[in-house]
Amino acid sequence: MAEKFSVKCPVCNGTFSASSEQDAIRMAQEHASEKHDMSLTEQDARDLVTREQQSGH
Ligand SMILES: [Zn+2]
Repeated sequence: MAEKFSVKCPVCNGTFSASSEQDAIRMAQEHASEKHDMSLTEQDARDLVTREQQSGH
C-alpha cells in the first residue's frame, strides 16, 4: 500500500504531493522560497505535510 504525502502552502493554498515525506518537505521549502521569498525551516515545512493513506478499492 503506497503512502502519499501532500503539502499545502499556507500562503497561496497551493497543494503539492510527493511520494516521501522528505520530498514533500523539500518541495514546500523550495516553493516558499521561490514563490513567496519566504524561508521555511525543515520543522516549519514538516508541519505542513499531511500523510495520506492510499487504501485503494
Ligand atoms: Zn504558495
